[in-house]
Amino acid sequence: MQCPPLKITFLGTGTSSGVPMIACSCEVCISSDKKDKRLRSSILVESAATSIVVDTTPDFRYQMLRANVNKLDAVLFTHPHKDHVAGLDDVRAYNYFQKKPMEVYANSLTEEAIKREFAYAFSDKKYPGIPSINLNTIADTPFYIGDIPVIPILVWHLKMPVLGFRFGRFTYITDANKIDAEEKEKIKGSEALVLNALRNDKHISHFNLDEAVAMVQELAVPKGYFTHISHQMGKHEMINKNLPKGIALAFDGQELTI
Ligand SMILES: [Zn+2]
Ligand SMILES: [Zn+2]
Ligand SMILES: [Zn+2]
Repeated sequence: MQCPPLKITFLGTGTSSGVPMIACSCEVCISSDKKDKRLRSSILVESAATSIVVDTTPDFRYQMLRANVNKLDAVLFTHPHKDHVAGLDDVRAYNYFQKKPMEVYANSLTEEAIKREFAYAFSDKKYPGIPSINLNTIADTPFYIGDIPVIPILVWHLKMPVLGFRFGRFTYITDANKIDAEEKEKIKGSEALVLNALRNDKHISHFNLDEAVAMVQELAVPKGYFTHISHQMGKHEMINKNLPKGIALAFDGQELTI
């Protein structure tokens, strides 16, 4: 699949509680380093013609304002956890200015959750001003959104199936702690790989830092970036400087061109 040049923007790189966490006074949460301020995890993928966001976090509205996203063609969902879907209602602004429903792509598990959690947007009797959403089911086959090719990658979040996405030579995976062998083949050859790395200690459904480093190295991707980071990870600067060459913690607002 042909892929045009892409710009990737990290809209958020924090775990479900964000960093700082409400009411926490640990050294990370009180840090004055901007890189220790993490909204919930999401990226913007842009070609010259097409703009896609992956997940609509509880911070979606502010993320769109902060990154000045004036046009949005589609939303891709990884999985139905609240920190990845909660902001969907705010696609209303794009409905209003673009005068059409938002194209939303998700697997059937996430579609069910969206219909349940945003039932008012799918009811027969719709009140004015609700979000307008056109659901597109992701199967295991690649597809295009505008001129951007999308290869879905199935990964495991303990026992929940989660979708990662490959766009050309860039792959984004969050909320996983296991990747099956055949799905790893879909990632190989990427120039850059984003993985979730929650913290240093082991976790039941997320890669920790060591596991994420090992996965980037196993897949031999030249550049690895970590997201979905907890305040328990430690301060950005301290952790980042000890990572192997080519691997870094991502930070909010970071941009990649691929
Ligand atoms: Zn999450
Ligand atoms: Zn804290
Ligand atoms: Zn999750």
